Amino acid sequence: MTDNPNLGATVLGYPRIGPDRELKRAVESYWAGRIDQAELHRVGRELRVDTWRELAAAGLDTIPSNTFSFYDQMLDTAELFGALPQRFTSLGLSPTDTYFAAARGVQDAPALEMTKWFDTNYHYLVPELTPWTEFSADGGKPLDEYRETRAAGLETRPVLVGPATFLLLSKAGDGAPEGFRPLDLLDGLVPAYAELLGTLHDEGVQWVQLDEPAYAADRTPDELEALARTYQALGSLRRRPKILVAGYFGGLGDALGVLARSPVDAIALDLVTDPSTVDTVAAEGVLRDKEVLAGVVDGRNIWRVDVDVALANAATLLGTAGKVGVSTSCSLLHVPYDVHRESGVDERIRGWLAFARQKLAEVVLIGKALHEGTGVVAEELAAARAVTADRAGAHDLREPRVRARLDALRPEHARRSPYSDRAAAQRGTLNLPPLPSTTIGSFPQTGEVRKARAAHRAGRLDAADYRAAMHAEIEKVVRLQEELGLDVLVHGEPERNDMVQYFAEQLAGFAATEHGWVQSYGSRCVRPPILYGDVSRPAPMTVEWASYAQGLTDRPVKGMLTGPVTILAWSFVRNDQPLAETASQVALAIRDEVHDLESAGIRIIQVDEPALRELLPLRATEHKAYFDWAVRSFRLATSGVADSTQIHTHMCYSEFGDILPAIEAIDADVTSIEAARSRMEVLGDLGTAGFSRGVGPGVYDIHSPRVPDVDEVSALLRTALAAVPADRVWVNPDCGLKTRGYAEVEPALRNIVRAAERVRAEHAG
Ligand code: GLN
Ligand code: ZN
Repeated sequence: MTDNPNLGATVLGYPRIGPDRELKRAVESYWAGRIDQAELHRVGRELRVDTWRELAAAGLDTIPSNTFSFYDQMLDTAELFGALPQRFTSLGLSPTDTYFAAARGVQDAPALEMTKWFDTNYHYLVPELTPWTEFSADGGKPLDEYRETRAAGLETRPVLVGPATFLLLSKAGDGAPEGFRPLDLLDGLVPAYAELLGTLHDEGVQWVQLDEPAYAADRTPDELEALARTYQALGSLRRRPKILVAGYFGGLGDALGVLARSPVDAIALDLVTDPSTVDTVAAEGVLRDKEVLAGVVDGRNIWRVDVDVALANAATLLGTAGKVGVSTSCSLLHVPYDVHRESGVDERIRGWLAFARQKLAEVVLIGKALHEGTGVVAEELAAARAVTADRAGAHDLREPRVRARLDALRPEHARRSPYSDRAAAQRGTLNLPPLPSTTIGSFPQTGEVRKARAAHRAGRLDAADYRAAMHAEIEKVVRLQEELGLDVLVHGEPERNDMVQYFAEQLAGFAATEHGWVQSYGSRCVRPPILYGDVSRPAPMTVEWASYAQGLTDRPVKGMLTGPVTILAWSFVRNDQPLAETASQVALAIRDEVHDLESAGIRIIQVDEPALRELLPLRATEHKAYFDWAVRSFRLATSGVADSTQIHTHMCYSEFGDILPAIEAIDADVTSIEAARSRMEVLGDLGTAGFSRGVGPGVYDIHSPRVPDVDEVSALLRTALAAVPADRVWVNPDCGLKTRGYAEVEPALRNIVRAAERVRAEHAG
């Protein structure tokens, strides 16, 4: 083995859940007490070794390690540096159980908060730091994994979350004084990283990778200075491996110059999200002394690479940087393992797809073409070009009827009457009391419901019996809501496995995978559908269930749909046209459904957009363009109804800061949001932003098994009334109830209804 080889062809990270979700099964079995710690760690080791072997066999020049995690890499980093909050470390548990306690919470020690990893659908745990946090560093997991790779006869590059990103993504823990920022701890944390790098160096580690994706977002001068200070210090260490800093999910902006001037050895660039970086680097020649990893293979989406675009970008860099290696744009954590297992996907479409395994081959191919010449891999390049050409020429993916409809759209298709006119019309037809109570849509998904769905899917339950089973469940849920005294009812969503997949399966233009799982958080995995062609709605998708429910009761039943932005956010979306165009197509399909629900007598329709914030671009300069298409697609989906039809939307988070203008602009009559935990704080923000429609601040935290009592809910409602006039406040839980059990949901909803009655009476008096 040569000393300090070039990075060559590599990837920034790899899926870790196992091709058949082995990690999920092991971890959940361990939590349930079915396997012991030794078995859990054995499965972890096996998954790691399999991964490294696979990466080596694929022909990569260098291989990452420490990309495995039993739950999350941010939690791993907090643990590695001895920075878990005391409420977990004082429990007297083993290290493994302390780790899981922080991830999932135990009695009296609530879990760390979870939040989205940049603009992806992966969620990380938010470390809590205080001025008294002291960082330590024994070699920990990166060292252990490196030793494992050595024992397996391989050389790897340990991957760490970089110190600046780690602090920028952390939050102030309990007891921290006002004004404390985790970034204030940088000078304590960098020495701990330095010590770790020294340990790894002594062990023989040649390269480490420090991930700094936080710098693909807007950063203050202060935060840029923190980056400079970090890499000046780490780069100047005498005892250290070579350092690769990876910035991904966008261009590095000013951070690129900062890193270029620092004494690190290599920088990984995301050329998929921001290809213009190539020109910046070329024009300014800033990376002349560095090794550069050209991230030309998309780590987040599943389309085969356009080899000519990738090669051109890498070649331009080759002319201006010290050395150039080829890589994925980010970790492959965000894509499934292997497209060859998807025998259910149309063969032609399958040919256009690359999952993690296929992306390894793409990286190796481009690396060879770049360094050994295209002649060496002429055949493979020709095959890759044929795929690109086949997809580009696939005219059957352009539906003339969909295109014609888009062309015919006029501004009035995305516009309703003024809110005051609509509100008056709705008061007339809906006849609701002040502070109307409702739920967000789903009711608990019992074992029976899941069983019926699975049996139907497997062909063991025919259409008529399946329908009867769902009708029975809907009737049960409707009767319960009537008995509880809710004002606006729902059908309960028993037929839905997932709020995006359910629609994707019925829309033209989507394909579903069988094994295409990706990690969402911890042991939770999702299977995003693939949006490959023009989207349209061949037949109604929800009308049958909603109208059955409405037929059972005199109270209004609210129809339930998922909005265009969320459908895009939780799918793998075609990359051959702007997102805005694809969003319009999805919006028209939803618009058709909204129309049919209205025609079937449904007077309230909710279009959920929980992902509106998730897709918000990391850079403020791109916000306006995003809001334009996101808002327009929601309005397109919901503007085809009469004034008297009430449109609701739902978003399950309480931090609205950046998207307040969009919430106003989508022009829904009622917006339900998460607010129970933050004690209605969000209402103040909405008020300040001039929000003037109906709002349902959640009064029941459905993430917790706790049942709120009547006093508590009443107090929350009074707080809400202090910020919003009574004729605009709705009473509802924070989110859907599908993950909870009836034992909690029934008493909780009962208390909500009583609290609404009580506060209504106070208000009338
Ligand atoms: N209507 C959906 C439900 O109640 C909304 C889920 C969500 O916001 N994620 O389950
Ligand atoms: Zn929600």
